Amino acid sequence: MEDNIVWHDHKVVRSQRAENKNQKPCLLWFTGLSGSGKSTIANALDVALHNRGYHTFLLDGDNVRHGLCKDLGFSNEDRVENIRRIGEVSKLFADAGLIVLSAFISPFNSDRRMVRKLFPAGEFIEVYMDTPLATCEERDPKGLYQKARAGEISDFTGVDSPYEAPAHPEISLDTSGSSVDDCVESLINYLLDRKLIVG
Ligand code: ADP
Repeated sequence: MEDNIVWHDHKVVRSQRAENKNQKPCLLWFTGLSGSGKSTIANALDVALHNRGYHTFLLDGDNVRHGLCKDLGFSNEDRVENIRRIGEVSKLFADAGLIVLSAFISPFNSDRRMVRKLFPAGEFIEVYMDTPLATCEERDPKGLYQKARAGEISDFTGVDSPYEAPAHPEISLDTSGSSVDDCVESLINYLLDRKLIVG
């Protein structure tokens, strides 16, 4: 089957789509435990970039599992496929010229590496939400840690499923010691330093 599928080159190329938007595409990949602040910080950064006039798109774990990935569960195999699909969709949005923010636990190094490889050097920005498990569990914004500890949910990252911390993330943020505004400022400064945004 795959032998008969031929890649069709588009007439409008990636760089032209970005040029029309007057911006450089990239992917900010937020990884970390449940409750570490991925969605909160990604949303706050999205607002900050949007208010500066940038074209962005936010992909969020729970939302994607309502649609694109609703056929997938939380087994290791399904988690790999979940991240593969999200990586490919993130790439398509970046090809469209957008600054993409993706917030997924993505506990495995190999999966994050797979997504990184889809992007040109410098365009994949791994944002490690390095918030201690104790803080995440105390926050328990969705009550999931309590359910996992009670044995009502299995394969829960940080409880009975591992989280492999990134060895060399582009950015680390610990939301137990920094406010939302401080985290957003760090991210904006990173994007300014790398000339991915100009103001
Ligand atoms: P995740 O997307 O990683 O599961 P969420 O963003 O959904 O995490 O949840 C993080 C919770 O922690 C939210 O309820 C948020 O209001 C709270 N919180 C408290 N302080 C911070 C902070 N400095 N940064 C981010 N979230 C914070």
